[in-house]
Amino acid sequence: MSESPGPHTFPGYTEDAGLVLGHLSATAVGAIVQRIADGSAARFADVAASVGYCSKPIRLVGSSQTIDGRTGEILGSFSSDDAPLGVAYRPCGNRRADVCAACSRVYARDTFAMVRAGLLGGKTVPQEVASNPLVFATLTAPSFGHVHGVRAKGGHPAGGRCRPRDTADRCEHGRPVGCMAVHTDDDPDVGGPLCVDCYDWGSAVVWQWWAPELWRRFTITLRRSLASRLGASESRLKERASVQFAKVAEYQARGLVTSTRLCGSTVRAGRGRWLRSTAAAWRTSSGRPPGRCPSSLRRSTVRTCRAGLPSGRSSTREPCAPAYR
Ligand SMILES: [Zn+2]
Ligand SMILES: [Zn+2]
Ligand SMILES: [Zn+2]
Repeated sequence: MSESPGPHTFPGYTEDAGLVLGHLSATAVGAIVQRIADGSAARFADVAASVGYCSKPIRLVGSSQTIDGRTGEILGSFSSDDAPLGVAYRPCGNRRADVCAACSRVYARDTFAMVRAGLLGGKTVPQEVASNPLVFATLTAPSFGHVHGVRAKGGHPAGGRCRPRDTADRCEHGRPVGCMAVHTDDDPDVGGPLCVDCYDWGSAVVWQWWAPELWRRFTITLRRSLASRLGASESRLKERASVQFAKVAEYQARGLVTSTRLCGSTVRAGRGRWLRSTAAAWRTSSGRPPGRCPSSLRRSTVRTCRAGLPSGRSSTREPCAPAYR
């Protein structure tokens, strides 16, 4: 167990990274003292270790037998009565840190290892993937109105004024169209609209609802665009290239889903055209779903980590991979 990590002590997701459980509450400390007093502390420690220190393990009660169907011989049996604490425990497996810190760490670590292997090889993935083209793309949700936010200043991610405007300027509801405050991450105003009546709440909800469908249509557009750029039919694209990606969907302070994609490709021909194709697909509409969902993104950035060009022309920007921790 280690202390809660600060911004500069995050141990990362490697297999060597320690488990972070934070500080124990007074209730938890009392429960441990109770177990020491009644002599069950050692068994409790064994159970806690067996479930990876899950904070909300699933409790199972019952018994089972494994019987040879041919001879009727009992090959094995299990009863929760025989478990160290009289109950069988299994980790909850939840991937959300606010539900279970321990299980979410296991999930994050496994995901990190899987993404890393996809980028650099290892764990049964051939090393050749390390030379494939790779882009890091961020797709930002459209704007539905001005919101308070933490603004960059002088090369720093914070410290700038929220939305400097003439203080006399008002919207049609009589509220200021600007904000001279310097917000910080923990400011409850961050993400909230400057005017609750000007903000297009309806479209924001529709965007949220259709975000998965937009992503699905985008992947179709991407593969079609790539096939076109490579001069192949869509059905024969797999003979020349494959697109692999890891996707992260996260909520912005304004509550909208924004996606970050680490997107790579195994290209067997026409390598130089892959990047132009990807960038083009990113910028075209992903298709307009029913309703009034805006299909254009507010902003998309595509960072080229590896161009995948023939030897001597390829550019590898290592920060793309390690930054994804
Ligand atoms: Zn858990
Ligand atoms: Zn503000
Ligand atoms: Zn207004």
